Order: sequence, then C-alpha cells, then structure tokens
Amino acid sequence: MRAYSSHKDIIKLVNKVDSVGLVPTMGSLHEGHLSLIRKAISENEKVIVSIYVNPLQFNNVNDLKKYPRDIKNDLQRLEAISDIIVYVPGDNDIYEKDKKKKKYNFGHFTKIMEGKVRPGHFDGVATVVEKLLRMFNPSNAYFGEKDFQQLILIKTLVKKQELKVSIVGCETIREDDGLAMSSRNKLLNSSERTIAGNVIRLLKKAKKLYKSSTKEETKFNIIKDALMIENFNLEYFEILDISELSGFLEEEKEIRAFIACKVGKIRLIDNIKI
Ligand code: AMP
Repeated sequence: MRAYSSHKDIIKLVNKVDSVGLVPTMGSLHEGHLSLIRKAISENEKVIVSIYVNPLQFNNVNDLKKYPRDIKNDLQRLEAISDIIVYVPGDNDIYEKDKKKKKYNFGHFTKIMEGKVRPGHFDGVATVVEKLLRMFNPSNAYFGEKDFQQLILIKTLVKKQELKVSIVGCETIREDDGLAMSSRNKLLNSSERTIAGNVIRLLKKAKKLYKSSTKEETKFNIIKDALMIENFNLEYFEILDISELSGFLEEEKEIRAFIACKVGKIRLIDNIKI
C-alpha cells in the first residue's frame, strides 16, 4: 500500500496500466469497504482507494463535523491487503480552485428518499464522484448496494456524462445481527446499537408481509411497527421498483424496500430486495 495526497502522482502510476479499479470511500473503513476493495483487486491490474470526507455532500454542518475519521487506522488496515494505491487528498487537491457543488438534473429519483431528506446531497456526491472519475479515468468503479439510491445516481451520472467506466454494484456486508456495516455504527452507544437491530428486522418483516399483502398494506404495517420503537425515529420507509426508480437507466424490474431512521442522533439507512 502506498498513500498519496496528490492526484498527479497517482496518474503517473496508472496511465499505462490496462485496467484500473476505483473505490471511493469516506474512510473509517470496515468490512463493507474492504469487500469492495477485494472485488476491485480481483478484477483490475491496479486499484485506487480514495479516502475523503466530501464536505459538499453534507447538508448538515454538525453531521460533517461529527463524521468519524480514522485515517491512521484506515491506512493500517489497507497495509495488510495488498499493493493498492490510496488517495488521501486535501480539499485543494480534489477541487483545486473550484470547491463548488455542480447542479445536476437527474430527475425524479433524486427528489425522493435521500434526495428529499438531504437536499443537495446527491449534487454533492455526483460532483465529487465525477471529479474522481475524470481524474483517474478508471475502467471500473465500485459502489455498495447499501447506498442503493447513490448507486443508481452514479450509474445515471456516468450515462449522462458519457464516461467510459463500468459501475460495479456490490452487495451489502452486515454484522452478525444483520445491521448493515457503516462508519456511523461506531457512534452508537450500546443501547442504541441494540435498537439499531430493528432496521434489518423491519426490512425482513416487509419482505415477509409483501408476499401476501399489497405495497400500501406492507408500508402501513411497517410504519406502525417503527413508530412503536422507543428512540427509533423513522425518516422514511418505501417500497419501490428499481426499474421505475432509475428512469433514465434500463434496469430490470426489481422490488426493494428502503428505510432511513435516526437512532438517538445517529442516522442509519438500509435496503433489501423483497
Ligand atoms: P462511505 O465511506 O460510507 O461513503 O462508503 C464508501 C462505499 O462503500 C460506498 O459505495 C458504500 O455504498 C459502500 N459501503 C458502505 N457500507 C457498505 C456495506 N455495509 N456493504 C457494502 N458496501 C458498503
């Protein structure tokens, strides 16, 4: 593993390489991130992992301030994997003189769920990912299904901007009780951690109910259940067909349940195919 804070140094290393895999992250690495990195290693000659907490995608200053950062530990974890290239930029290296959110028009799907609850979030994500993709020109870029709406956003971005990269979606890695791994999980205290187990419980319950009930009945039942849980604040629960969600893409029909909530002050999101 070698870490660089200048993208120009990395470009020199990869410009003659056959296939480059890019794994964008915000650090505080866990097994979810590592699964993306391992997949990238198995499919590319060189792999770049970026670690950057992108201020443009936070719609809440406090959330940005409190976002867990642990670069020393991240580099130690990556050391053990293989000879990957780690990009750890400062704001100036990534944005140069232009630290501004680009305004995209991705249509309806950026106005629901995460797009609705976190105004401007997807413009911030697309801005930084477009920068990284143009910077390194990777053959493949890896994103987790845990952030499913984000995965659709990136696929739409690539198609609209006609970028030559293949976007690889990777399955969600979970803790033993089913909680999706997330950098934010370490901010949960022990009672909140127990309550967080409800996220996957509700998603699994939705999957079961949906086999014999309508979408509306399932939603009603899940929302009612969620409202009864103490210290669990539901932000949204949705059941959506991916082929409708993505609009601009030609995704196959697939029904997924999506949830976002706050346990104490910690925001958690998850989704499963139902
Ligand atoms: P983040 O550092 O949270 O921005 O995540 C970086 C990438 O890792 C994103 O593409 C996420 O969707 C993905 N990711 C985060 N958590 C998981 C997980 N539990 N399983 C699989 N991928 C994940």
